[in-house]
Amino acid sequence: MKIGFVGLGHMGNPMCRNLLKHGHTLKVYDVVPELVRKLAGKGCDAAASALEAARGAEMVITMLPSSPHVRRAYLGDTGVLGGVAPGTPLVDCSTIDPLTARDVAMEARAKGCAMLDAPVSGGVGGAEAGTLTFMVGGEARDFEAARPVLQAMGKNLVHCGPSGNGQVAKICNNLMLAIGMIATAEGMALATKLGMDPKVFAAIVNTSSGRCWSSDTYNPYPGVLENVPASRDYAGGFGADLMLKDLTLVTDAAKSAQQPVLLGALAQQIYQKHSADGHGAKDFSSVILQYRKP
Ligand code: NAD
Repeated sequence: MKIGFVGLGHMGNPMCRNLLKHGHTLKVYDVVPELVRKLAGKGCDAAASALEAARGAEMVITMLPSSPHVRRAYLGDTGVLGGVAPGTPLVDCSTIDPLTARDVAMEARAKGCAMLDAPVSGGVGGAEAGTLTFMVGGEARDFEAARPVLQAMGKNLVHCGPSGNGQVAKICNNLMLAIGMIATAEGMALATKLGMDPKVFAAIVNTSSGRCWSSDTYNPYPGVLENVPASRDYAGGFGADLMLKDLTLVTDAAKSAQQPVLLGALAQQIYQKHSADGHGAKDFSSVILQYRKP
């Protein structure tokens, strides 16, 4: 299939490579020309704008930082909706707020294009391995039509309901993840300060009621697990600034729904401080540095 792909960063680049591997042809665009050149060298056509990437495409996929970028890339003067033919399916894989996802999908529908919000989990590793989980909002028939293309980039495809619901699933999962990570960091830091060996304490938690993904799979205390960011000075992984972005989407969405997110608001502020302290580029498990020195 001829695919227009916009947003060639940490996630977009490996997603494009997997689409190429599966025989799709790509026309790619990013506001950073170097990122376009990188993929043009791998057999993709280069586009000079999102509009140009969308022109002649049989599907358009976007992977952008956040809501304003998605608005601009679809609705701007040189945006996707200026270039697509009516009937072209559009898939936005960025993590953005559900209301923007619904707004942009409505504009797309007005142009005769079905749009899916399809944020992912699995990180850069999952994007490279083609094992991402896609949480998809939109019409069921559009989800089924996009399935073969999404399968080139991911393993688990979940239809979450109407437009925007993919984003709802994504940001609410990350709300729970952030709170779980902060709780694990706090408990690990206190237990060790009070004299426990971190590995012994983690082993107890992981067979007890405090166990969670952050304690048994992604422990933030250095040396407890091998091959996690905590054991390589928090390099790689899921950036603290991306977690801060997702928590800000959570608190904004909660505000518009008039729904309290008491721990979510606190988690957002903890990551805000963590970023202000200069740790935004580190993996999000580095939030334990708010409790202990390295
Ligand atoms: P990134 O910043 O590396 O890539 C985004 C790219 O979009 C950049 O190259 C940027 O230049 C480009 N861009 C911005 N505005 C543009 C525009 N108007 N037109 C064209 N290109 C534009 O970000 P990423 O890590 O690839 O993440 C992308 C999305 O995926 C984010 O919403 C993020 O929250 C989500 N996500 C990331 C991860 C992760 O581990 N990195 C995991 C899951 C979800």
